[in-house]
Amino acid sequence: MSGYKADDEYDYLFKLVLIGDSGVGKSNLLSRFTKNEFNLESKSTIGVEFATKTLNIHAKIIKAQIWDTAGQERYRAITSAYYRGAVGALLVYDVTRSSTFETAGRWLKELRDHTDPNIVVMLIGNKSDLRHLVSVSTEDGKAFAEKESLYFMETSALEATNVENAFTEVLTQIYHIVSKRSV
Ligand code: GDP
Repeated sequence: MSGYKADDEYDYLFKLVLIGDSGVGKSNLLSRFTKNEFNLESKSTIGVEFATKTLNIHAKIIKAQIWDTAGQERYRAITSAYYRGAVGALLVYDVTRSSTFETAGRWLKELRDHTDPNIVVMLIGNKSDLRHLVSVSTEDGKAFAEKESLYFMETSALEATNVENAFTEVLTQIYHIVSKRSV
């Protein structure tokens, strides 16, 4: 077996969770990042799902296991198992629907109630391609992120803008924390 590198070899496995109101684009951010796919139809599947992607960060092989609520947030039925072991989170709102931004505080509280204080959290204003419909300004997103010590980015899963950047930034920050801890 020498010289053979298994598909599943990695240096670190990081669990990330996607949170935020229904319809903000969580599933599409995940499929854009892991499969470079986008779906116009909102899927109705119920049940937690995850996808994985392996990438290189600072010469380490990082496997990201990214969990999607897959519709359960509609019933506020996300269980503690969803959050368990998460080291990073993307808290997503829709820049065209301010109600999804107003609930960000509640999502953050639920996340923090269930996870380690060191968790890396990025606030994501998704659907930035719908410029004429924007109802949450970049400044408001930034201000909330600063107040809560979150990273912040605006993305478009549709146009593939900043999606890779957002996930990679979260994973890189997690790597910095974890690699410091182990020296
Ligand atoms: P989820 O419920 O948070 O997982 O949201 P989905 O990923 O199912 O997306 C909800 C709807 O928003 C779908 O109709 C998507 O096609 C649409 N959508 C998701 N991301 C974007 C985006 O970046 N731009 C636009 N214009 N539509 C998006």
